[in-house]
Amino acid sequence: QLKIYNSLTAEKEIFKPILDGNVGMYVCGPTVYSNVHLGNVRTFLSFDFIYRTLMHLGYKVRYVRNITDAGHLTDDGNVDNDRFVKQTRLEKLEPMEIVQKYTVDFHKVLDMFNLLPPNIEPTATGHIVEQIELTQKLIERGFAYESNGSVYFDVLEYNKRGLNYGELSKRNIEELFANTRDLDGQGEKKNPQDFALWKKASPAHIMRWNSPWGEGFPGWHLECTAMSTKYLGETFDIHGGGMDLKFPHHECEIAQGKACNDAAPVNYWMHANMLTMNSQRMSKSTGNYILPMQLVTGDNDFFEKPFHPSIVRFCFLQAHYRSVLDISNDAMIASEKGFIRLMEAVKVLNSITPNDEKPSGFSLADWKNKCYEALTDDFNSPILIAHLFEAVKYIFALNDDKETISTVDLEDLKSTLNAFIFDVLGLQNIEENNNEKLDQTLKVLIELRNQARKSKNFDLSDQIRDKLLAEGIELKDGRDGTSYVLS
Ligand code: AMP
Ligand code: ZN
Repeated sequence: QLKIYNSLTAEKEIFKPILDGNVGMYVCGPTVYSNVHLGNVRTFLSFDFIYRTLMHLGYKVRYVRNITDAGHLTDDGNVDNDRFVKQTRLEKLEPMEIVQKYTVDFHKVLDMFNLLPPNIEPTATGHIVEQIELTQKLIERGFAYESNGSVYFDVLEYNKRGLNYGELSKRNIEELFANTRDLDGQGEKKNPQDFALWKKASPAHIMRWNSPWGEGFPGWHLECTAMSTKYLGETFDIHGGGMDLKFPHHECEIAQGKACNDAAPVNYWMHANMLTMNSQRMSKSTGNYILPMQLVTGDNDFFEKPFHPSIVRFCFLQAHYRSVLDISNDAMIASEKGFIRLMEAVKVLNSITPNDEKPSGFSLADWKNKCYEALTDDFNSPILIAHLFEAVKYIFALNDDKETISTVDLEDLKSTLNAFIFDVLGLQNIEENNNEKLDQTLKVLIELRNQARKSKNFDLSDQIRDKLLAEGIELKDGRDGTSYVLS
């Protein structure tokens, strides 16, 4: 039985999907106005592990993760400081060039850490119509009002109708009202806590769309309601994001969903905790951050050497997704050691000979149970990894002839261990990966040599063969084509 910690109830609950065997999961994606930092990667990686686990447990998952490519204001709430518009001025690019540049970067980074792509990756700008429709619906239902070309959600009205703004972040609305300064609404809002569904564009604002309220752009919170409900339904199973999105973003999503559809939009709210560096939250705005590429290439002053993305991934998964993780040189070195030992065990396991005569002191069934208990206990990756190391110890004992394993158990251990390491944790064997790359590269060279021979360019085809030979790679022409031998 899968248990999930639900941020809404602050309890671990038994997971009951709406449709048996199926899961609808939405995770807030990046705002693509600059490169993602390593902290952002941790959150997306946490949900990649959750996605992989759900699939491993046999669920059919529809995983939606959006791209915020419009409408995300800077923290000071000033409309003219829209993150995209600001970056457009800085880089002297069109807004959609900024969006494309950083979307490509985002995909490259996640690919490097072996994250699976979501099933649907919708964009805010691709769903302006849906957002306008939702805004109209909220006005019709009396939950929103127009003011000077902008439309705001009426938080007080929402609460008057017995709904509870603040239920997720456990904030009290009176306190909220007392403590909020009106930076964003410029006197347009009825109450400071009201949030924008649609914003009027000032003359300088270049990202703008027509609407019943004049030219403007959508508020950030609305895009996630529009896209999650469009692809997953008015109520869906899991909604995720970083802890910092709980308030106001997710609080607003709940309010919008309930006000539109008279139903809570999400059954299980999941929040991933932050990555810190120097014990402070990683963040672009404070300058306390490292880019993923800087860690992988070693181009930074913080870590003493470069680290392979798979080791970074392993390090992240050694912490539970709801715990804060402080990244440091020591933590990475320790993860590297653990990772190498784990991969060594995978290799050693392939050379073990079974013995059906002698009984073993290691119970494979008990071990598997413990692993699944960890996985289903709110996706507890560090406990799972600790159990994997029990198997590692056993494998080395087998290798030293201090333990035995039956034929059936050996096959079972191999497939279970591989599934946990490669499918669920999503780790990649560094060595194998390099060999794979070499193999692909050599196949390309062989193909080019064949083409050269076909077009009678023997000078070039001989050069390819001789230069490879000089590097210790011998090409062998046979009846079934060309193969290679490494010396
Ligand atoms: P953004 O592009 O700013 O919307 O952020 C993308 C995701 O990264 C959100 O889910 C944030 O909660 C998350 N995030 C931002 N900073 C950190 C951090 N230091 N550690 C982990 N996740 C973070
Ligand atoms: Zn969102």
